Amino acid sequence: MCVLCDEAITNPICLDCLGKSMEQWAEAIKPTIVKGLAEKAWLFKSYTHEGTKCVVCGNNINICAHCFCKEVYEWLQEEHSETTESFLVCFNYEIRSPCKF
Ligand SMILES: [Zn+2]
Ligand SMILES: [Zn+2]
Repeated sequence: MCVLCDEAITNPICLDCLGKSMEQWAEAIKPTIVKGLAEKAWLFKSYTHEGTKCVVCGNNINICAHCFCKEVYEWLQEEHSETTESFLVCFNYEIRSPCKF
């Protein structure tokens, strides 16, 4: 279960793995936002302890990709709105398979 939205975590990808994909995306589209993204991921990591295991690296997770993407998306909308279209194409809130760069 996700500690933020109480939904079952159906795409168990931890914030480390998701964050890395987002950083790659940011580097490709707007390198100046990479630092801000990393800070967001760091903030969210403080929530993680026991939980489901990440399908990629095996880390414990208890925040769903949806909540993390939503948070990042809202931040982008406020401060870097020109990047949101590309973000949605790549991450699309549900994270089936993040884009590769
Ligand atoms: Zn959630
Ligand atoms: Zn992981």
